[in-house]
Amino acid sequence: TVDTKLRTVRTACPYCGVGCGVLATPDGSGGAAISGDPSHPANLGRLCSKGSALGETLGLESRLLYPMIRCKGGMQRVAWSDALDHVATRLKHIVARDGEDAVAFYLSGQMLTEDYYVANKLMKGFLGSANVDTNSRLCMASSVAGHRRAFGADTVPGTYEDLDQADLLVFVGSNAAWCHPVLYQRMLANKQTRGAKFVVIDPRRTDTSSEADLFLGLKPGTDAALFSGLLVHLADSGALDGDYIARHTAGFDETLARARSLAGSTAATALATGLSEPDVAAFFKLFRDTPKVVTLYSQGVNQSAQGTDKVNAILNCHLATARIGKPGMGPFSLTGQPNAMGGREVGGLANQLAAHMGFTPPDIDRVRRFWKAPDIATHEGLKAVAMFEAIARGEIKALWVIGTNPAVSLPDADLVRSALKKLELLVVSENVRSNDTVDAGVHVLLPAQAWGEKSGTVTNSERRISRQRAFLAPAGEAMPDWWIVSQVGKRLGHTAAFDYMSAADVFREHAALSAFENDGSRDFDIGALATLSDDEYDSLAPVQWPAPAGKPPSPRFFADGAFFTNDRKARFVAPEVPALRDETTAARPLRLNTGRIRDQWHTMTRTGLSPRLGAHLPEPFVEVHPDDALKYGLMHDGFAKVITDHGQCILKVVVSERQQRGMLFAPIHWNESNASHGRVGALVASHTDPFSGQPEAKATPAAISPY
Ligand code: SF4
Repeated sequence: TVDTKLRTVRTACPYCGVGCGVLATPDGSGGAAISGDPSHPANLGRLCSKGSALGETLGLESRLLYPMIRCKGGMQRVAWSDALDHVATRLKHIVARDGEDAVAFYLSGQMLTEDYYVANKLMKGFLGSANVDTNSRLCMASSVAGHRRAFGADTVPGTYEDLDQADLLVFVGSNAAWCHPVLYQRMLANKQTRGAKFVVIDPRRTDTSSEADLFLGLKPGTDAALFSGLLVHLADSGALDGDYIARHTAGFDETLARARSLAGSTAATALATGLSEPDVAAFFKLFRDTPKVVTLYSQGVNQSAQGTDKVNAILNCHLATARIGKPGMGPFSLTGQPNAMGGREVGGLANQLAAHMGFTPPDIDRVRRFWKAPDIATHEGLKAVAMFEAIARGEIKALWVIGTNPAVSLPDADLVRSALKKLELLVVSENVRSNDTVDAGVHVLLPAQAWGEKSGTVTNSERRISRQRAFLAPAGEAMPDWWIVSQVGKRLGHTAAFDYMSAADVFREHAALSAFENDGSRDFDIGALATLSDDEYDSLAPVQWPAPAGKPPSPRFFADGAFFTNDRKARFVAPEVPALRDETTAARPLRLNTGRIRDQWHTMTRTGLSPRLGAHLPEPFVEVHPDDALKYGLMHDGFAKVITDHGQCILKVVVSERQQRGMLFAPIHWNESNASHGRVGALVASHTDPFSGQPEAKATPAAISPY
């Protein structure tokens, strides 16, 4: 239910992983005044351009208002009961005929935790397949895999307060000034008031690098070499914490030996990374001599075919110096999406089960008993890229997409679009009537409630769970995702398992599972929240996990040096995956890097509604170094055709010294509905990291010519 009185509601921003608190005051005619929530610990009242424009994106123009099914004459409006019956009947038929692995769900870091939990439970618990993955695979899967390898669990050790207290902030593959703006402002305040130093490591100059005390414009794919060189330097200059390494870690000697073979000296590191030796030496000295250092990493590290190795190369340096679990220091993964963390908590990834449990016999048995799900999946499912490859091969016949647009956002997006056309059943739960995925041949279209209408929880980059609260009446017949999935679960015969009356019911079960037979050996425990009343859930203030029942919350992990591996020791992991999969060639002499811009979000279905946001960078573009512009005959503000082995785009040319020679940068947001020539996902190779399954989106060999 939504309180329709015009009172201010505390909620959370639906865009990035900073997780800012928002105050929304409905205006009584479908809009709302938006401001930052001064009481929210993540933002203390601040909002960035995207967050402050949320009130401009609430219109109904593009909204999907009722369920639709494809009939002979096209998509026809149907009653909810008919749409849900149809989905359940078709899923049941396909599973009976082709087996449980012939169906798949593709979810989104935009979903609320409660929605994610129910979808994961239906697929893994009751359809019996783990083919449930998420667009978070494109966002932070390499960080998940790196954390699990080093810590034994997918745990972000630190908190935002560490960013206020650090004396050195190292940004690796992160343009936080654009992609995590409020958190960046917080770090800038640290720089201005406490004199913290910034080091920015990125092939491209960005707004983040403009504030850097030291900018390292390394060659793409060489982050692991840089941090291997740092580990060697720390060892050779007596900066290791030998006692900590001996008592709390394993695998150091092999990892150091491997690091020596990759980058055995400052000079060798400079050679491997394309940096100058003085710059490398300056970075090494800063890191060595500054105890309070936080290393922040984001998509430039994660979106890589060796992303997990890059993450572990960073973690190695923090473990070797015991700079973890203490105020003002530690490694810090900046998640891209508002609820990528919540999705990880419920097991929204195909290689996790639920509540950070995996596909080990004890975990499978525990979740089976908790869910009363005898047919629970017993092995990992297909990760995002592999899932769509299986669809293209005809092995997966039915796909349910919730809150995301894979025909634009996945690599090799043209192949994804043609794969979608092969499905016997494509169900899409969406806010909007049309997008590239819907238009690829949807069979059932289900109207989901949007931000401002739906209610539940999200978890931000510092593990803080916040409430998203409804302050608007739902558009048309739109329903919450948890309700839609539950209704299908009931129609499949699992009435008791999906008998939820509210998001609060789902949350309590999720919290209870996190604590179920958890003696402290699993990191994700929010047992203290499992007994919230409906009123307490409604008024829940932002809270960090872990929050175990009967124990005081601890904001930071690993303060005691105990990790989540069997022997409670952290692991050093030596990089082993080659730097870049594809070489450049005479026909593809450049490398295409893709990423976000300051004022747009994903495929622009929401931010594209705000003229103010659109004014920042209004059309798809490719950034080119002046020397490359000259070499390839490109004019600033002219148009260019960018070609890779996977597709081509027509983009406006921006000639800029920010770009490295030999590299191109193009933003990811444009798509068929707003600029058919600017769909850069179609250009990106689908190479994936062997540990995380995350695709390489930063270095596809490409050619460019005037258009
Ligand atoms: Fe929203 Fe992120 Fe901006 Fe905060 S920083 S207002 S969460 S987009």
